Amino acid sequence: MAYEIVIGLEIHVELNTRSKMFCGCPVTFGEVPNTAVCPVCLGHPGVLPVVNAQAVEAAALIGLSLNCAIAPNNEFARKNYFYPDMPKDYQISQFDLPIAIGGYLDVGDRGQTRRIGITRVHMEEDTGKLIHKGATGRIHGADRSVVDFNRAGVPLMEIVSEPDMRTATEARAFLVKLRSILLALGVSNCNMEEGSLRCDANVSLREFGDTELGVKTEVKNMNSFKALQRALEYEVERQTSLLTHGERVIQETRHWDDAGGATTSMRSKEEAHDYRYFPDPDLVAIVMDPAEVERLRAGLPELPDARAERLGREFGLSDDDAKILALNKPLGDFLEETVAGGAAAGKAANWLLHELAAELNRTDTEIEDAAFTPRHLIDLLQLIDAGTISGKMAKEIFKTSFATGRLPAAIVKETGNVQITDTDALGKIVDEVLAANPQAIEDLKNGQERAIGFLVGQIMRLTQGKASPDAVNKLIRAKLR
Ligand code: ADP
Ligand code: MG
Ligand code: ZN
Repeated sequence: MAYEIVIGLEIHVELNTRSKMFCGCPVTFGEVPNTAVCPVCLGHPGVLPVVNAQAVEAAALIGLSLNCAIAPNNEFARKNYFYPDMPKDYQISQFDLPIAIGGYLDVGDRGQTRRIGITRVHMEEDTGKLIHKGATGRIHGADRSVVDFNRAGVPLMEIVSEPDMRTATEARAFLVKLRSILLALGVSNCNMEEGSLRCDANVSLREFGDTELGVKTEVKNMNSFKALQRALEYEVERQTSLLTHGERVIQETRHWDDAGGATTSMRSKEEAHDYRYFPDPDLVAIVMDPAEVERLRAGLPELPDARAERLGREFGLSDDDAKILALNKPLGDFLEETVAGGAAAGKAANWLLHELAAELNRTDTEIEDAAFTPRHLIDLLQLIDAGTISGKMAKEIFKTSFATGRLPAAIVKETGNVQITDTDALGKIVDEVLAANPQAIEDLKNGQERAIGFLVGQIMRLTQGKASPDAVNKLIRAKLR
């Protein structure tokens, strides 16, 4: 039996504001533990939180870019729980009055675009980070645990989707698009490995035609887009197997183990918390001035859909290429910088999407960290355009340039490996090859165009691939005329 897959995502994103959500401590990553802390984010008694205006603005921008309504009033609430990552025993969050509600995101996946509802965007503070010392790095089996409060109080936005996604790849495409929007807004680094972008996936199955939702599980600990997709595929298979064997899915939170490729139960519904939310008496409600919201809306940067449309129009790229570049901000920025430096957009995009993308993938490098920059690509394309190197040579030079960071022109100069376009130099070789191959000439005269490929091949062999195929072609035809 085939079941309909239902997926809803809850995404947490750490903002890259200078200071934390409710105190003046800096937002840092990788600092010496417990150095970016103060009495407020350590939860000392008697301190008072002060809202970070920059964070409220960023939250509103996120809401607007996801087509949400910005609530005229929003309110902070205390989410009560006991855990050593939060000594004040509650997290300041938002409950029934979040900053933004009722939006959507249009997500393209496998040639189909579907509208995915956004339930809400709310503001909260991040917790401290527990580090479990021991074999597995998880709390079970740990020898001891230590806590770093540098992350406590970092502005954290939660974005909740409707249960509108229907496949694992669609959920992945949703997250890719959401990340590209957040990067376009510049509100977060969105680094999944470092945890500044975290995604919990809720998934259930139901029979096609059912209107009620099935029992869901919530999967945590996916640190990449690929992990999200794999975890969902695993969970769908697990739940399908349960249902087809007449068993039931238990509502629970499950942990994704990327190395093992499986989810395991973390806690079941019986252990679910009653957070006893109530409005935080230390904080007043935030009244959003409509004029201010409109100012923010007007100031929204170009978002991925608009960028894809513009890249297609201005640079004459295919829809698919334009979308890939728009969804990958650093790649899109790379292209625009290369074109601004004088390169032809189509050729530059081709190199980016094929050669460069393959090398980045092969070496597991982020484009921002690559030694090969727009300046390198401009240089390479100039060498090709000038006929100094052939397309084939360019691929070799590109690999060296990518690995070493040296400019293609410098590599060409050093190796002396340039294309022979000089007609005098080539003429002699062409004469030799023509003299040695009367049959091919005969074939060519009889209209067998294949013969010219053979002749060009001979010349390429004699010149160790350095002859310009273009120049050789022209020479042969001229000589035979
Ligand atoms: P919880 O109270 O368990 O956190 P919520 O109702 O707040 O559940 O929903 C959390 C997320 O789970 C949302 O993204 C929502 O769309 C999704 N979701 C809710 N019910 C289901 C379901 N039955 N199957 C799949 N996703 C669901
Ligand atoms: Mg939830
Ligand atoms: Zn602090």
